[in-house]
Amino acid sequence: MTANPPLGIDGESIHEMFSSHQGITYNDFNILPGYIDFPVGAVCLETQLTRGIKLKAPLVSSPMDTVTEAEMAIAMALHGGIGIIHGNFPTPEGQAAEVLKVKRYKQGFISNPKCIKPSDTVKDLMMIKAKHGFTGTPVTENGHPGGKLIGLVTSRDVDFIPESRYVTTLIQDVMVPRDKLMTGHEKIALKEAYEILELEKKGKLPIVDSDDHLVSLIARTDLKKAREFPLSTYDEKGQLRVGAAISTRENSKESVSLLAQAGVDLIVIDSSNGSSMYQVEMLQHIKSKHPEIQVIGGNVVTQAQAKLLIDAGADGLRIGMGSGSICITQEIMAVGRAQGTAVYQVARYSRSRGVPVIADGGIRDVGYITKALALGASAVMMGGLLAGTTEAPGEYFWGANGVRLKKYRGMGSLDAMEAHVTSQDRYFTSEADQIKVAQGVSATMRDRGSIHKFVPYLIRGVQHGFQDVGIRSLSLLHEKVENGVVRFERRSPNAQLEGGVHSLHSYDKRLY
Ligand code: GDP
Ligand code: 5GP
Repeated sequence: MTANPPLGIDGESIHEMFSSHQGITYNDFNILPGYIDFPVGAVCLETQLTRGIKLKAPLVSSPMDTVTEAEMAIAMALHGGIGIIHGNFPTPEGQAAEVLKVKRYKQGFISNPKCIKPSDTVKDLMMIKAKHGFTGTPVTENGHPGGKLIGLVTSRDVDFIPESRYVTTLIQDVMVPRDKLMTGHEKIALKEAYEILELEKKGKLPIVDSDDHLVSLIARTDLKKAREFPLSTYDEKGQLRVGAAISTRENSKESVSLLAQAGVDLIVIDSSNGSSMYQVEMLQHIKSKHPEIQVIGGNVVTQAQAKLLIDAGADGLRIGMGSGSICITQEIMAVGRAQGTAVYQVARYSRSRGVPVIADGGIRDVGYITKALALGASAVMMGGLLAGTTEAPGEYFWGANGVRLKKYRGMGSLDAMEAHVTSQDRYFTSEADQIKVAQGVSATMRDRGSIHKFVPYLIRGVQHGFQDVGIRSLSLLHEKVENGVVRFERRSPNAQLEGGVHSLHSYDKRLY
């Protein structure tokens, strides 16, 4: 019997891969496969987002005004990630109100229902129906949620009105008035509310506070599609967790106290170059005034920058400079770093200090998430990948060739900087500064459907990636990458071409 020859050295360790001092990024390498002895569903992606916040899925939506407001943050948290509300509102109160919406969200309760005024017409109701697809609409004094409840109008109330009378028929003349309306108090449990709807054979149950102001709405149709969200990111009170971004300006201190009152879990100090005296000062301010709030500093791409912000008290760091899809920082400022190298370098140092890091920008697809995590990130932050979803702010519109699109813009684009003053702060353009230098572009993204489908797809995709590497959890991945068990290989430009779809006449890329 002859013994099998020993295996040769195959691939390289992460430390060897980054030893060349040339900036490399996600697309430059592959992870080599490992041995699979567990099902894909067994892969655990639980992670530490900051020193004090854990997530079941390592996914964060970026604080950009075309990516994260309350609707996105709610959907991200329900699926195990977290959303960071952007800071580009006309007033700090506007941002705090979005945080409150997330904190007040209750599963099954429509917390921001479309409302109508008693003096509106059936035509207005029909416009709501055409745009949103439903007609069950609470009637409030001011036509908004939070207003005094006056009645409810549903399709049954308007079915027999001829179209010619839509403009002349007032809602107050067709609605079910308040005294005939069944409602629930805001303390009601969802189960109890559904029982009332079933018993009374009603389609909608408006929920009111003690002053009879509309708080939310419950729809009987949702009973049938009641969903479970086993990964949801909750705080200790059982409310969804949410973050918010602020700038390093002095006036952000006012935002910080409003956000704290609204119950924000996490503040992200939004700056393209985090190593500034302004950020250090802001970090120390927040940590001393609101020790209960976690603070993520950034952005950083070097170990020295990371040290500065960790010394100042950061609970987490955000890594990336010039890697975002809409970003032109490296072109214009000549400063930045290849994202793969930035994550590798900063993650190594930060881990030694017990501070988790987020890889921010340049995540083009599922595989990029797995690679960012393998390089040492505890989570990834995405802008462009989420910008075309239903939950991103903004309306869809039709582009050339009948493609459905949403707007996506860099926070350092002229477009965003001109919208409100706050986004100028990230890029150090002061109001007094007459000459603006854009660091981002304004773009469009194709419709990606709902986060409720897309994020589960991302999670399952990453689980498949881990399974292929033969690794069951994120903490194990970090350990086995660090000690050289997980192997990497850089790939030539030809290998990169080979690794993508190629040599076809045409193809259809449906992913989920
Ligand atoms: P309707 O009877 O025409 O109001 O429609 P259904 O009750 O059959 O469906 C309404 C669906 O839209 C439910 O799944 C609701 O949860 C959902 N929805 C989301 N936002 C709103 C809203 O602002 N008002 C209403 N009525 N439904 C909403
Ligand atoms: P994406 O996921 O689209 O590749 O990148 C999103 C990230 O790009 C954001 O989280 C943020 O860090 C960064 N970013 C957002 N707007 C701008 C901008 O206008 N300029 C630059 N340089 N970076 C931006």
